[in-house]
Amino acid sequence: MRVDLHMHTEYSADAQYPQSIDDKIHACEQAGLDIIGITDHLDFLRSGGTRDNRDPEACAREVWEKRRPAGNGGIEVLAGMEIGQLHATPDADDFVRTHPFDMVIGSLHAMPNDLDIYFHDFPNMDCDKFLHEYFDQLLLLEEHGGFDVLAHIDYPLRVMKHGDYIPSFDNYMDRVQQVLRSCIDHGYALELNAAGIAGWQKKVGPPQDILYEYKRMGGERISIGSDSHTLDTVARGVDDCVKNALDAGFTHVTVFRERKPVQIALK
Ligand SMILES: [Zn+2]
Ligand SMILES: [Zn+2]
Repeated sequence: MRVDLHMHTEYSADAQYPQSIDDKIHACEQAGLDIIGITDHLDFLRSGGTRDNRDPEACAREVWEKRRPAGNGGIEVLAGMEIGQLHATPDADDFVRTHPFDMVIGSLHAMPNDLDIYFHDFPNMDCDKFLHEYFDQLLLLEEHGGFDVLAHIDYPLRVMKHGDYIPSFDNYMDRVQQVLRSCIDHGYALELNAAGIAGWQKKVGPPQDILYEYKRMGGERISIGSDSHTLDTVARGVDDCVKNALDAGFTHVTVFRERKPVQIALK
């Protein structure tokens, strides 16, 4: 089974436009995928309101209309959304509770000051202090819950590199272990996110030693996604994710249907 459980369409403000859900499904069929999740952004802010989605109501409605169940002979399309900062405001819980989804991705993009990690001025910041605050926020998000897949825990590594500073979690494995413990205890699927393949790292995340540690600690649920924002990047890196998963001893990927986990053999 070839899966890609994290991708964006034109509903996401940072994705290629135009790029309809129908276009995306077609591109995934062409790419030979068997199961996909359409997971556009909706980020909640502490200061109130949302961002990163052009029309959350229409997005939720259309993705549910366009879902295709398994066993129809063609591609399976899961209706999802990538919700940023579910712990930031009760509005986030209300949104998830009042819309039907197969899968909800829980992401931490913005820190408590509502600034996306991507836009932080890392050359002029205490990066050690930042990373501890990041892990604190990630743990709060996990504790809060309301989602199925824990997205890209290595997101800061993608965007913190500057000058001679090479970001790494190597000196933060105690914090990573806290995150993995909570992930396992809450039943989230830890995401292998392929976006790093297009960045400075040139490889999918999280770093492989984190995957080993997750397995050693008893982790069983993983998710796999390209985090594609354009039509020509569906499935990009998902084979690398599968390779890493198998190498770490995982034999199945977790797919959520109507928010219930199902283990699907990786090969
Ligand atoms: Zn994300
Ligand atoms: Zn995404």
